[in-house]
Amino acid sequence: MFGRAVRLLLSVVMLATGLVVGSVATAGTAHADGCYTWTRTLSQGASGADVTQLQIRLGGYPGQGSVLAVDGAFGPATMAALKRFQSAYGLSADGVAGNQTFNKLYALQDDDCTPVHFSYAELNRCNSTWSGGAVAAATARSNALRTMWKLEALRHALGDQPIRVTSGFRSHACNDAVGGASGSRHLYGDGADLGAGPHSLCTLAKQARNHGFRGILGPGYPGHNDHTHVDHRGSRYWSAPTCGI
Ligand SMILES: [Zn+2]
Repeated sequence: MFGRAVRLLLSVVMLATGLVVGSVATAGTAHADGCYTWTRTLSQGASGADVTQLQIRLGGYPGQGSVLAVDGAFGPATMAALKRFQSAYGLSADGVAGNQTFNKLYALQDDDCTPVHFSYAELNRCNSTWSGGAVAAATARSNALRTMWKLEALRHALGDQPIRVTSGFRSHACNDAVGGASGSRHLYGDGADLGAGPHSLCTLAKQARNHGFRGILGPGYPGHNDHTHVDHRGSRYWSAPTCGI
C-alpha cells in the first residue's frame, strides 16, 4: 500500500512536471523572461498582479519626496512614474507599458527578479534564510527586492557608476552584533547602507530623495559618517546635516 502510494505520488509529480514544462514551452514567446513576462499592454485604469509587478520595478521613479504605492492599481502616480522611467532610459515617454517598456525591464532584471546591478546576496550578508528579523522571512526578502529596484534607479540617475551596499537585511542577532538601533529598518529587509565609492555619501543621500526612500540617514547623523542609510519606513525621516539634509 505504501509502495502504491509512492507510485501514485511519483506519477502525480511527473504529471505536474510535464505540465510545468508544457506551460513554459507555451509561454516561450519572443519576450519570455526568466523572471516575469508581461502578456498585455498596461495603461492607466488597468489593475492586477501584472500592474503590481510593474510598480515594484518603477519604485525608484516616484518623483522627489514621493513613494509609489505597490497596490496593483495603475493610476496617475503609476503613469507618472512610468513616464520618468521611460525618459530615464531614452524611451518615448507615453506612460503606457508596452513592448518597449517591458523589453527594457527584461534587460534590467535577472532571472530571480533582482535588478541586474544588485543581488539578494548583497542585500543579506546576515543569513541565507531571511529569518530572525522583525517580519516574516518572505516579507523581508520582498522588501529587499523593492529596495534593490529603488537602488537601480538611483544608480542609473547617477550615471550608472557602481553603488556598494555594505549592509542590508539583519536578523535581531545580526543587528545586535553590529550595534544597530532596536527598531532598525535592517530588521525589515528594506534598509540598505551605502558606502562611498564613485559617489560621495552626500551625493548618494541627496539623490536618494528622488527614488522612493522615506528614510535617509547620512553624514552628520549620529553613527552615519561612514555610510548613507536608505530605507522605506512608514513616514519620512531624512537627516544628513553635513550634506545640508
Ligand atoms: Zn543602516
